Amino acid sequence: MKQSPIGTDSIRDAIRAGGLRATPARLATLQMLREAVSPLSHADVAERLAENGVDKATAFRNLNDMTEAGLLRRTELGDRVFRFEEVRAGEEGSDAHPHFLCTVCGTVSCLDNVKLTAGSQRASQEVGKVTEILLRGRCNDCE
Ligand SMILES: [Zn+2]
Ligand SMILES: [Zn+2]
Repeated sequence: MKQSPIGTDSIRDAIRAGGLRATPARLATLQMLREAVSPLSHADVAERLAENGVDKATAFRNLNDMTEAGLLRRTELGDRVFRFEEVRAGEEGSDAHPHFLCTVCGTVSCLDNVKLTAGSQRASQEVGKVTEILLRGRCNDCE
């Protein structure tokens, strides 16, 4: 696994800021999710961490602990698969970016630059609290 000392320091600080001990398995988990371009499922994370000698149960527990600590976001995009990604600065709670789910291949993409307008936010609040913004369609590879 590639690791730069500076990157590892900031990851360690982030885990400690969440009130958790910065164990090697947690460091590896957060580093992986920080480098990932899209949210990863339990199975994706467990499979990759197994290469670092982390067992499945530990991988699952760490994902849940780090989600509860506010370091990770857990998304469920209508396909009954929980996926995890790092909560980015300024994106806490309902400010999370939308996701695009390809209904053909199941690929999930982060839409970092897509936001609800203030008017859309007000209008959606009349219906309820938005916890997830999901767009579905066919990705460019499946078109
Ligand atoms: Zn696709
Ligand atoms: Zn995302």
